[in-house]
Amino acid sequence: MTLSFSQNDLSHAVEADRNNVWHHLSQHKQYETVDPRVFVEGKGMRLWDATGKEFLDAVSGGVWTVNVGYGRESIANVIRDQLIKLNYWAGAGGTVPGALFAEKLLTKMPGMSRVYYSNSGSEANEKVYKMVRQISVRHYKGKKNKILFRDRDYHGTTIGTLATSGQDQRAEQYGPFPEGFVRVPHCLEYRKQWDVENYGERAADAIEEVILREGPDTIGAIVLEPVTAGGGVITPPEGYWQRVQEICRKYEILLHIDEVVCGVGRTGTWFGYQNYGIEPDFVTMAKGVASGYAAISCTVTTEKVFDLFKDAPEDTMSFFRDISTFGGCTAGPAAALENLRIIEDEQLLENTIAMGDRLMDNLTTLMDKHAVIGDVRGKGLFCGAELVADRKTREPMDEKKVAAVVADVMGQGVIIGMTNRSIPKYNNTLCLSPALIAKPDDIDLITDAIDGALTRVFG
Ligand code: PMP
Repeated sequence: MTLSFSQNDLSHAVEADRNNVWHHLSQHKQYETVDPRVFVEGKGMRLWDATGKEFLDAVSGGVWTVNVGYGRESIANVIRDQLIKLNYWAGAGGTVPGALFAEKLLTKMPGMSRVYYSNSGSEANEKVYKMVRQISVRHYKGKKNKILFRDRDYHGTTIGTLATSGQDQRAEQYGPFPEGFVRVPHCLEYRKQWDVENYGERAADAIEEVILREGPDTIGAIVLEPVTAGGGVITPPEGYWQRVQEICRKYEILLHIDEVVCGVGRTGTWFGYQNYGIEPDFVTMAKGVASGYAAISCTVTTEKVFDLFKDAPEDTMSFFRDISTFGGCTAGPAAALENLRIIEDEQLLENTIAMGDRLMDNLTTLMDKHAVIGDVRGKGLFCGAELVADRKTREPMDEKKVAAVVADVMGQGVIIGMTNRSIPKYNNTLCLSPALIAKPDDIDLITDAIDGALTRVFG
C-alpha cells in the first residue's frame, strides 16, 4: 500500500513543520515569512514538495546521500522483511544482515578486514579516534595519541569530531574542544600556498613538517577525506596521496580515510581512496552505504589494527571498549546489502564515471561563457564549480551572490548545493552530487539551469 496525503494533510504538515521542527542549517527567522519546504515524495532523481512542485535533485538528498535514487521498492521490501524477522540485537553476538553485509563489503575493499557498525558518519569517525587512543595506551605507553586533521576537511558534528574540523565556522562557538588534534594544511592547488612545480608532493611534505614539529612519537593517526566534500570539492593534486602514504609509513602513523561522502560509488569506484592507490588502516563510511534508506555507518579496519586489541585473557582492555546502541539495528545492513546489489547489477559505477565526465565537460564549457567560474573540480558524480569575483586575482565570489545562484537554480526546479558557511571567505563553490543513476538529460538539465542562473545573477 502506498501512502497518500490529501491537500489538507499536506497543509497541516507544513504548519506542523513550521511550529514544531528545529531545522538543520536554517536561520530561525526564515520561516516566519516563508513556508518551510516540506518534501513529500521521491522517485529516481525527482522530488515533489507539499505544494506539488517537482524538483530534479542534484545533491542526492541535500547532503550527497541517496546514491541509488528515491523510491527503491526492493530496498523497502528487504527492510520490511528483515524487521519482521528480527529488528535488533546489539549485545555480544551478531545478526544475519550484519554478518552478510560485512562479508560483502569487504570483498570491495581488498586489504581491509573488520567492520564495526554505528549509525552516523560522526560516530564512525569518533570510533577511530577512540581506537587510536586505546592503541596508544596499550602499545605506546600513552604516546602516539595525537591525531592530525586537514584544513578544509570535515569529519562530523560531535564535539570530538569538531575538534578535527578544518572548517572553522562549523566549530565556532562550540569550544572548548578535547586536546590532541593538530591541523595540517589543505592541498587545493587552485588556492596555492606554495609556488612550486610538484604541488602534490609539496602539500604532502607540509604534513611531514607538522609531524616533525610535534614529534613523530606523539602522532598516532591522520584523518583525511580522499576528495574533500563540503570544504569545496577538493580533488588531490598529482603525487599527493603517494607521498602522504610514504610519510605515514615512515613515521608509523595510522591512515584514516573518511569516506563518509566518497564511499560506495560516489567517485566512480567503490571508495574514493581506490582512485589513488591508497592503503588505509581505517576507512569510515555512512551516507551512501544504504543511500539514506536506513541509518548505518561503518568503521572498517585492517586485521593488523584488529589484532592490536587482542591480548591475554586476563587483560580487561583486550577489546574495543565501545558500544553503539543503534549499531544493532538490522535495517541498516539489510538495506546496505541491497544497495550494493543495485549498484552492481545496474552497473552504476560505470554510469558514474560516464555521467561524471559529462558533468565536468558541461561545467568546463560553461567556463568559456561565464568568467565568474574560476575553477571546476570533480571525481565521478561529485563536482564543484568555484565562483570568483575576478578570474585573474581569484578573489572569491561573495557568498550571498553564490547563494543567489543556488536560489535561482532552485526556482528553475533543480536543487544544487554550495560550501555553506563552513570556511571563512571561501564559501564560494557550487556543489553537485546527483544520484549515481543520472542520465545524460539529467546532467544537461542541471548545467543548463546553472547556465541560466549565472546569466541572470551576473549578467
Ligand atoms: N565526514 C564527512 C566527510 C562528512 O561530509 C560528514 C557529513 N556531512 C560527516 C563526516 C559526518 O557525518 P554525519 O552527519 O552522518 O554524522
